[in-house]
Amino acid sequence: MNIAIIGAGVSGLLTALELVERGCTVTIFDQQRTGSAASWAGGGILSPMYPWRYPNEVNALARYGKQSYQKWNEKLKPMTGIDFEIHETGMLIFDEDDFEIGLDYARLHQDPMQQADYLQSEQIEQINPHISARFAHGIYFSQLANIRNPRLLQSLTAYLQQHPKVQIYEHCPIRQLNRSDNRIQSITTADGKQHTADQFVIATGAWSAAWSEQLDIEIPVQPVQGQMLLFKTPQNWLPTMCMNKVMYLIPRQDGHVVCGSSMRQCGFDTQTTDATLRHIQESCFDMVPELANFPIVKSWAGLRPSSPEGIPYIGQMPNFDNLWANFGHFRNGLCMGPASAQLLAELMTGETPSFNADNYSPTRLFQDALLSVE
Ligand SMILES: Cc1cc2nc3c(=O)[nH]c(=O)nc-3n(C[C@H](O)[C@H](O)[C@H](O)COP(=O)(O)OP(=O)(O)OC[C@H]3O[C@@H](n4cnc5c(N)ncnc54)[C@H](O)[C@@H]3O)c2cc1C
Repeated sequence: MNIAIIGAGVSGLLTALELVERGCTVTIFDQQRTGSAASWAGGGILSPMYPWRYPNEVNALARYGKQSYQKWNEKLKPMTGIDFEIHETGMLIFDEDDFEIGLDYARLHQDPMQQADYLQSEQIEQINPHISARFAHGIYFSQLANIRNPRLLQSLTAYLQQHPKVQIYEHCPIRQLNRSDNRIQSITTADGKQHTADQFVIATGAWSAAWSEQLDIEIPVQPVQGQMLLFKTPQNWLPTMCMNKVMYLIPRQDGHVVCGSSMRQCGFDTQTTDATLRHIQESCFDMVPELANFPIVKSWAGLRPSSPEGIPYIGQMPNFDNLWANFGHFRNGLCMGPASAQLLAELMTGETPSFNADNYSPTRLFQDALLSVE
């Protein structure tokens, strides 16, 4: 089977990986460099922030993130020489209003990833000596990890580039899906070239609503900007991820600490603003005051592909025999990425799906379009 994938973020690249593992031939197109949009800009926490605030559909895919990335890192690293560092730091949460519900969630779901303990300040100090003394207590998710997502994307790209059944076209925007009845016959690039395939996958993240008109179906996916700051501390300086009031710190092994993030709907604008960066910085100093001693080495903004309730669209597009979706992962596309790609590859190759495919079916688009009008 010959498959064309539009979009080379984590959704498109992992889909390609799952499909070539099943013997398919894959061509990937991206309007930018591969892996340079939201999937690069994200933090890489391998769990939804406050999972109890998300629907089961999101958590059902996210819970496989850590174990799947461990498997892929072992397979890809010897070939690419790139370690994308699944950093098992655990996560401290200081939002008091979430303590009870977070601990209940852990008890109820018995998900090893979401096991949580209530800690007093002395215990917090043992786990992370840099936390501000103003936090007298917190809850600790010891199993949560983060991934170094820019390296994940480099590794996926390097692996796929050397694969004999894969071709990647970078800086190659797709403008047109050429349909005949309920089949896509080919796609057209911005410079007018046509590419044919047996099956086509849309993995275009925050840009996915651009297909609404051509497909004659409203796609309620919008870009939601998130800004980030990067500090450089000594190696392994900050032992845990920390979160308070939806702001977080994510330590990498080499001492970089990623801090974020904001939420703003401003179209496709990826400019950072001083006021927002200052707010992120202050929120992070509030949790870890000593961070103020270290330099900020970078800041950026990325575009999350928002969707109703953050539930991605994965599966066959309504009214089309050979057009498939893997988009709309909003805040959790890195942790949901491996399971989303596996589900889509299973559906495309006629395997029994490992997840409840109905929950993610793009037939929801009809319903969601109606809701967005009401
Ligand atoms: C600040 C921030 C923090 C985040 N933190 C986390 C986190 O900690 N954990 C987590 O799980 N998730 C996180 N996310 C969310 C996560 O990054 C996204 O959900 C995920 O990256 C979406 O992946 P994607 O492949 O669908 O989209 P993208 O990575 O945006 O990829 C889509 C690709 O499609 C290409 N494209 C679009 N249109 C066309 C076209 N017409 N032709 C060709 N190519 C096209 C684009 O160029 C792009 O490369 C965060 C996001 C942001 C912005």
